[in-house]
Amino acid sequence: MVSIREFQNMMHRIYFHNDSERGADRTYRWLKEEVDELGEAMQNADEKAVEDEFADVIAWLASLANVLKIDLEKATLSKYGNRCPKCGSSPCKCPFVIRKS
Ligand SMILES: [Zn+2]
Repeated sequence: MVSIREFQNMMHRIYFHNDSERGADRTYRWLKEEVDELGEAMQNADEKAVEDEFADVIAWLASLANVLKIDLEKATLSKYGNRCPKCGSSPCKCPFVIRKS
């Protein structure tokens, strides 16, 4: 098993030379594009494509974090470590809300 930090470090080893050259704004645009492709794969109910797009989304998220020097493991676990950040409970006890958009 690979931790979030190990995954981010792996992405750094493989892609940082390109990611740093591309910069934060263009890397962010790639990430948004991959999120859109994930949505399209879901709409097409294409299970293999959904899996591929999840991989792309997390890869580009890690790339963007590397460019911005954000420690993804620290960021995620300090906010979501073992409990809901809003109500402090696990499982979450916040009222269930369905977003319209
Ligand atoms: Zn909650």
